[in-house]
Amino acid sequence: MAPDTQNSATFDAYNPATGEVISTLADDGKAGVDQAVRTAKDTFERGAWNGLGAAHRARILWRVADLIDQNAEELAQLETRNNGMPLSLARVTIAGSAEKFRYNAGWITKIHGKTTDISSNPVGAGRQEFHAYTRKEPIPVAGLITPWNVPISMACAKLAPALAAGSHCVIKPAEQTPLTTMRIVELLAQAGVPEGVVNLVNGFGATTGSALVDHADVGKISFTGSTITGKRIVQAAAGNLKRVTLELGGKSPIVIFDDADVDAAIRGAAMGIFVNSGQACIVGSRLFVHRSLFDRVVDGIGKIASAMVLGDGAAPTTQLGPLISKRQLDCVKGFVDDARADGAAITAGGQVLDRPGYFMQPTVVTRVSPDMSIFRDEVFGPVLTVIPFDDEQEVVALANDSRYGLAAGMWTRDVKRAHRVARALQAGTVWVNCQLVTNEAMPFGGHKQSGWGCENGAEGIEAYMQTKSVFVAL
Ligand code: ADP
Repeated sequence: MAPDTQNSATFDAYNPATGEVISTLADDGKAGVDQAVRTAKDTFERGAWNGLGAAHRARILWRVADLIDQNAEELAQLETRNNGMPLSLARVTIAGSAEKFRYNAGWITKIHGKTTDISSNPVGAGRQEFHAYTRKEPIPVAGLITPWNVPISMACAKLAPALAAGSHCVIKPAEQTPLTTMRIVELLAQAGVPEGVVNLVNGFGATTGSALVDHADVGKISFTGSTITGKRIVQAAAGNLKRVTLELGGKSPIVIFDDADVDAAIRGAAMGIFVNSGQACIVGSRLFVHRSLFDRVVDGIGKIASAMVLGDGAAPTTQLGPLISKRQLDCVKGFVDDARADGAAITAGGQVLDRPGYFMQPTVVTRVSPDMSIFRDEVFGPVLTVIPFDDEQEVVALANDSRYGLAAGMWTRDVKRAHRVARALQAGTVWVNCQLVTNEAMPFGGHKQSGWGCENGAEGIEAYMQTKSVFVAL
């Protein structure tokens, strides 16, 4: 059986559908991080990447995308084996990862500063003219720390904009799921990213991760993971005042209004929580349903949940894979058991499967009150809480009653209401008549305790750059 946490010089990558160990890797720790950062810094100072010129770098990133496509099936099989997600989902995330490189490749030749007309007129002196302009310069060394839930996608969401900006990188994948990131780094080299520009370190958060965050030569950390670890990173980054981008937890509310296309809303809300067995920060885990539709929606989602095929993600019929670990399974089950003990009703699922691997049934919970932990805390599992409401004002207040603000959604046919409620919801992403949509061209970031800054879009590249103002007296 695969261990959940270790405190040793090595760690195991394992298949969460079986517990089988796939690979044993070294925890690089502080020494490995020091070496990787030194390489990134030295190669930056030598101009190994930026010296190639913008058009050349754009062509290389485009080639990375092509190589991801050419190796998609191998990458998907590996992602499924190490993470557990169904192959169908792995294929979607890998196609999306290639698109992240294409999108960011397009930006490289369009990164530039501005020229501004200024003049100064000091007292007693003649008018002074200047040529003044800004330059957009990369932060030399960026540390990229990724989670285990969608490993390739998270790695590429950080590598593509960092490289487009011109930063050199040290990337640390989650200790549970290092294998596909290691393969992506090989494909970067194959595409022509020079040696030393992207450096991979493996290991635990407490050893390798924290050494990266502590390092004085790392100017930026881009982190995706839990809110609690994000707070630790903010504190550690204070040492050299690193720039920090954080994509953290969520507890996304989804509202089904009484004018919704109910069948579409039921399907959307079910997939919007059960996808990847609920292990995604953007899942819609709090569903608010107009009281007139409540029983129909709970029944409809319950039927979908009960019919879902759980199993090894590599099997073609599998719709839901395992949770990542025994620790995660115990944690998710604990939320459901506590809710039941507090008077909630489990209307579908609720059980752990009695088989190897870490499988939890898709679960629907009703009779939930806003003071329950299952309503307030991120479960990161296939568990949906459903709550009835009577009017728009009431449901907006309930939806916003969270320390998180990552995403939110609604199902309605009323266009005025859609825009009104989209304004009122406290979240970085709002979906109307859809769920789970993100795109490399659209900024993605959390409000409140769901994060700092954005990934994707032009803002995603800006996050790896700093501005310099240059004044030339004429
Ligand atoms: P989880 O608790 O579900 O494993 P985390 O947010 O702790 O989620 O992990 C996400 C990523 O952050 C992983 O790569 C992990 O190794 C890393 N990590 C964990 N703790 C730290 C830390 N103190 N400093 C830097 N990285 C960390």
